[in-house]
Amino acid sequence: MMKILSVASECVPLVKTGGLADVVGALPAALATEGVDMRVLLPGYRAVMNALKRPKMVAEWSDFFGGSAKVLSGKAAGLSVIVLQADHLFDRDGSPYLDAAGKDWSDNAERYAALSWAAAELAAKGAGRWTPDVLHCHDWQAGFAAYYLKTYWPDADVATILTIHNIAFHGLAPSRKLNALRLKKADFNQGGFEFWDQINALKAGLVWSDLLTTVSPTYGRELMRKDFGMGLEGVIRSRVSDMHGILNGIDPETWNPATDPAIPRTYKTPRGKARNKTALRKEFDLPETDGPLCLVISRLSEQKGLDLLLEALPALLDQGGQLALLGSGDPKLEADFRKAAAHENVGVHIGYDEAMAHRMMAGGDAILVPSRFEPCGLTQLYGLRYGTIPLVALTGGLVDTVIPVTPATQAVGAATGMQIFPLTSHTLATGLNDLCALFRDKATWLRLQKNAMAHPVDWAASAVRYAELYRRLSPTA
Ligand code: ADP
Repeated sequence: MMKILSVASECVPLVKTGGLADVVGALPAALATEGVDMRVLLPGYRAVMNALKRPKMVAEWSDFFGGSAKVLSGKAAGLSVIVLQADHLFDRDGSPYLDAAGKDWSDNAERYAALSWAAAELAAKGAGRWTPDVLHCHDWQAGFAAYYLKTYWPDADVATILTIHNIAFHGLAPSRKLNALRLKKADFNQGGFEFWDQINALKAGLVWSDLLTTVSPTYGRELMRKDFGMGLEGVIRSRVSDMHGILNGIDPETWNPATDPAIPRTYKTPRGKARNKTALRKEFDLPETDGPLCLVISRLSEQKGLDLLLEALPALLDQGGQLALLGSGDPKLEADFRKAAAHENVGVHIGYDEAMAHRMMAGGDAILVPSRFEPCGLTQLYGLRYGTIPLVALTGGLVDTVIPVTPATQAVGAATGMQIFPLTSHTLATGLNDLCALFRDKATWLRLQKNAMAHPVDWAASAVRYAELYRRLSPTA
């Protein structure tokens, strides 16, 4: 069996701030069917330490990025995990990345350099008797792992992959931290991890990993463009033949309208949504209308384009459409949506609530994802599974997962949703108009829902592709 060490800063159900956690948590089970034994290396946050069962110590360091540390191998929430217990770095209240005031922890560079170092050393020396064939790193938090491995253990027979979940986060640090981060000055240059005079952890991963992946084919191509690459497009272009776009899937059991314990009434066909819709309207204090009940479940950030939705909203409301939004993040967007909720057809919940997200998917007619960029996106996939039609921007993974309504796609029974291009408040308003019109055409809408519910959104196809890459990197494993 091929052995893969997956390294990440988040993993469902232990710790999550976004889609990264869903992917990292889902891959081990998805890949088990492909003959892959994947273990996940995580920081020993409080939630992870509390969940850890039958820990066995596999490494120990007395002087590890400012304190002592242990590596424990065990089980947590059904996953095989390896945990970096370094209380001076991870035993804290609050989110993985932010302090109580909502600011980045000032030692985030050291915290995730430590995680990356642990990954490299375990890859080189093994975790107990378990020695990985491939080290699979996720995002900037694991960015230095391939660099450390190649620099400090050049003879180790372990290949490396870096997956980019979101290029917006680089993991920048000032150059005075070079020594503290165990980085060599000789590599602090344009061909290395230097980025406009700063240290860039993601760039290190892009330069030193054997292969690169990202979470959709379209985002993989977009990353080579100036308007998407966030300054790293040149590095990615230089590695074009090593870059693979592999779509994220979702867990078809967690997100299954036929068995979902979180929803009022389970269903196998779109007609079964009616009871859930009535319940959802009550929950969001929305009246009964003839228009579509549209959803947003999202981080409230610039990326997600929800400021444009605020501008375009009258187009939906004027036609009796409704909006139910669940999200949190940017204080201005939170305040603006709270204000928008003064309209009787707008319901807003500021917060984070997994069970509510399920109830919304079951009761909503459409899910809106007007992102400015979207590496893959997950909520449109939940929407497909629940017969909740996605209206999305034509960008990134949204391109690859939603089949837009056109005469041709309708003729062959393939259409699953709607796409908007270019994304402005005007085109979004037009899109919402079209959505209302489609919704009134009951036969066409039902057809869309059936197509959507039949569209594959699980991990099967992508698990095969990851397994192929691992095999390419480690043919003898
Ligand atoms: P990103 O990773 O950029 O935040 P994704 O669409 O890839 O976007 O993943 C977001 C994940 O977080 C999805 O599983 C979505 O359902 C969930 N999510 C986002 N905001 C909330 C919220 N307020 N309550 C519940 N779940 C949320």
